[in-house]
Amino acid sequence: PPTDFDMAYFHSYAHVGIHEEMIKDRVRTETYRAAVMQHQNYIAGKVVVDVGCGTGILSIFCAQAGAKRVYAVDASDIAVQANEVVKANNLSDTVIVLHGRIEDVEIDEEVDVIISEWMGYMLLYESMLGSIITARDRWLKPGGLILPSNATLYMVPITHPDRYTESIDFWRNVYGIDMSAMLPLAKQCAFEEPSVETISGENVLTWPHVVKHVDCYTITSHELESVTTSFKFKSMMRAPFHGFAFWFDVEFSSPAIFPTDNNAPSSVIESPTDHPIDGSQRKKRANPNEALVLSTAPEDPPTHWQQTLIYFYDPIEVEQDQVISGSVTLSQSKENPRFMNIHLEYASGGRAYVKESVMR
Ligand code: SAH
Repeated sequence: PPTDFDMAYFHSYAHVGIHEEMIKDRVRTETYRAAVMQHQNYIAGKVVVDVGCGTGILSIFCAQAGAKRVYAVDASDIAVQANEVVKANNLSDTVIVLHGRIEDVEIDEEVDVIISEWMGYMLLYESMLGSIITARDRWLKPGGLILPSNATLYMVPITHPDRYTESIDFWRNVYGIDMSAMLPLAKQCAFEEPSVETISGENVLTWPHVVKHVDCYTITSHELESVTTSFKFKSMMRAPFHGFAFWFDVEFSSPAIFPTDNNAPSSVIESPTDHPIDGSQRKKRANPNEALVLSTAPEDPPTHWQQTLIYFYDPIEVEQDQVISGSVTLSQSKENPRFMNIHLEYASGGRAYVKESVMR
């Protein structure tokens, strides 16, 4: 049965603002639409389930791509509007809106395609991926398609002097008054919890590290209870090291067995450069059937996810080539399973540190 946490979570999706923000995020919405169109040959004539349909937009993209039937499922009251939108677009014969949790609704057939926009901040916040696993294990036919197919969470050490100056150094001299006594509180309020903000390539100290790779076909919910990784970075510059940034990307690839529009072998040209910030290290897509990628990286066009930052209370001065090592564990909070605990251990220049934070 749904918990109070679920009720609060679904209630938050009954407001128009959250859907407006997602739909106005053109990078997000247009990549999903392009992915549906790229798989049109597979989707046409098939049965689809849209896990968490919201306003119904992804279900309608699938109907436009020729799906035989789309189950549009959402536990939030936004499902009422989704149903009206479907009717107003004369798609009621194709799109069936089910107002309930994916864990509770009944669908009396197997499905060929699962589509969902499930990604939270730091990828795993909100823990909606578990519901994609549920849908997959309940209804997906062997050889079925999941969009997106896989996801990767990254982290990197960052420098952000402007942010530090604005929130912290500001208190050192306020209208000529020494307000340094405010510093501990200012640091706590600014940096205790992860913050969602946009950084640029200039804030990044080196190449990112992969925290977690998720293959949507094989991931288990057990694997998501706690994710741990060890990292070792080498700063590419001398700078104050202020914390870590996290972001993700998701890929919309077809399992190799699917025929695509043309059978030309796909090739990926990697063009590494000596600096991580100019974006040119990203994969160049040489073939139109190359998997589409929805990226939320600092060097890519901004999305509503921005990046998630974990700041230290005090910066660490690092030299060029200085090593930054440690580990991070992301786990579901006991307080509320939709919250995420972040346990970070890091060491540099011979000193070790620990930072605990909760994403609420
Ligand atoms: N697909 C829409 C909305 C994405 S937001 C779009 O792309 O614009 C995620 C939606 O999933 C929310 O509306 C939320 O209510 C719904 N959701 C999350 N977990 C769910 C679950 N277990 N069962 C049903 N709906 C769920």
